[in-house]
Amino acid sequence: MDRDLKTRLKTLNLKVTPKRLAILEVLAAEPGYLGPEEVWQKMKKRFKSIGLPTVYRNLEDLANGGVLIKIIHPDRKLYYYFCGNTGHHHHFICVSCKKVEDLSFCGADEIEKEVRDSLKGHVVSHLLQVYGLCEDCSLSKTISS
Ligand SMILES: [Zn+2]
Ligand SMILES: [Zn+2]
Ligand SMILES: [Zn+2]
Repeated sequence: MDRDLKTRLKTLNLKVTPKRLAILEVLAAEPGYLGPEEVWQKMKKRFKSIGLPTVYRNLEDLANGGVLIKIIHPDRKLYYYFCGNTGHHHHFICVSCKKVEDLSFCGADEIEKEVRDSLKGHVVSHLLQVYGLCEDCSLSKTISS
């Protein structure tokens, strides 16, 4: 795991530092997303004197470098997620249990076509995150209501 994470940082031209690796390890061990403060709590077990700003900065660097996915949550807070799948895909984000699942549907072809046909432009990149309730959370909602 550690080797894979190192390789991933290197292929993205990101400097490999012990703190960056530890952040990736923390997030790779999670089935879902974490907020900066949760990552910080877990990091303090290994780096006793690490400050929250350092965690924030490293999370931002890793997200900007493309190794972490930044989740703009409907609760307006920022979260981060690590996905081992390096192919182009999108995510289904459970707003209740914080689980993230890969989606194979993209839809970019149709959007690119519309941009080309109606706007006479072309798409450079796109962002798509889908929010909802996962199967488990949908079921517990039905039972409790
Ligand atoms: Zn859920
Ligand atoms: Zn993914
Ligand atoms: Zn796509």
